[in-house]
Amino acid sequence: MGFKALGLHPAVLKGVEAMGFTDPSPIQLRAIPEVLAGKDFIGSAQTGTGKTAAFGLPILSKLEEGKSQPGQPRCLVLEPTRELAAQVETAFRDYGRFCNLKTLVIYGGVGFDKQKRGLKGVTDTVIATPGRLLDHLQDGAVDFSGLEFLVLDEVDRMLDMGFLPDVRRIVEKTRKERQTLLLTATLPPEIERLASWVLHNPVIVEIGARRCPADSVDHAFYPVAADQKFDLLLALLDRTNYDSVLIFVRTKESADRIASRLRHANHSVAVLHSNRTQREREEALNGFKSGRYEVMVATDIASRGLDISGVSHVINFDIPQHPEDYVHRIGRTGRASATGTAFTLVVAEEAGNMQAIERFIGRSIERKKLDGFNYFYTALFDEHTTKALGGGGVRGGRHMSGYSFGTRRNRR
Ligand code: ADP
Ligand code: MG
Repeated sequence: MGFKALGLHPAVLKGVEAMGFTDPSPIQLRAIPEVLAGKDFIGSAQTGTGKTAAFGLPILSKLEEGKSQPGQPRCLVLEPTRELAAQVETAFRDYGRFCNLKTLVIYGGVGFDKQKRGLKGVTDTVIATPGRLLDHLQDGAVDFSGLEFLVLDEVDRMLDMGFLPDVRRIVEKTRKERQTLLLTATLPPEIERLASWVLHNPVIVEIGARRCPADSVDHAFYPVAADQKFDLLLALLDRTNYDSVLIFVRTKESADRIASRLRHANHSVAVLHSNRTQREREEALNGFKSGRYEVMVATDIASRGLDISGVSHVINFDIPQHPEDYVHRIGRTGRASATGTAFTLVVAEEAGNMQAIERFIGRSIERKKLDGFNYFYTALFDEHTTKALGGGGVRGGRHMSGYSFGTRRNRR
């Protein structure tokens, strides 16, 4: 079934066509009619399944029918990070390009006064991170007493980042008779509790096995001695014919350190973590998206929700501390039905994290060794380790037929 039958406003439908979307994703199929019908809605579906359009398209359709007053936006979308806020703003502009609607994005780290002027003007949709929005609310720049739509997006991420109290304070300042939508990749009890307070008789739709990485991602553990982690990373990069690689590390400091070592090894590298300025973060993300940087080193701030399309490979230089993050991190690849590959380096002390991940996703993950790499001994090799990286072993990227030596270097 296409988008036509879902009852969207013709201008929104035109925007969807211009985006090149032909078929609604499962969450979109379920959400759009309910939201158009005025229902509160909880949508839980894996990252990359099109949740933005699931709430964006029906809301834009309804906004297009009415009119906003100065200083009184009709729709508020809360996002956990500035990057996500910017991304959803872009999506709203794209979907709504044939509508007569205004979208304003509000986040910290940039000038306050310009945002304040924007909020006082006519805006239909405000897309904001909680902290900065609370500042503006305290400042009296904006009034949500006329709010028609409230969207809490990426709520599992908001929970992780400790934003739920801020979210509650914002919700308290919005009109009671609003329509509320909540989108999340997972639905733990804390989120269910928030939902029962914020939403009114919601339709709840949970799509797919929420704990499983997408089938389009080929992923394995690479046991290695701690001293050899960086060498193995370099070897994997050299042997892999990638388009773009997202490398996850545990701390901001190690992100900077690994990035600088990779630059020394002649890789073009961007860095994304929360200690960088807004401008630096934008430059990194845009540069990575445009292909100026082939590699981006990031902390978990980049692991959720961010739609970085065309990431062919994810490398967990440090194994994630929380099993959910494994699914989120490797979810950066294999999106929108393209295939992807994820490598996770593991050292002996992390055997427990490895098992926790396998328990969480409910299946075992293959242990692999990179052929021809001069491994030191690690206790992890005493576990069963498959030696599976022969020709074609490093599989998975869209444009890959086995791996090749030197291709990437020649490209540069
Ligand atoms: P989520 O919020 O569920 O993680 P997003 O809303 O960020 O996912 O969407 C992921 C990607 O899928 C985006 O690049 C988006 O443009 C694309 N997308 C969304 N809906 C469709 C569709 N119906 N057809 C094709 N691509 C889509
Ligand atoms: Mg999303």
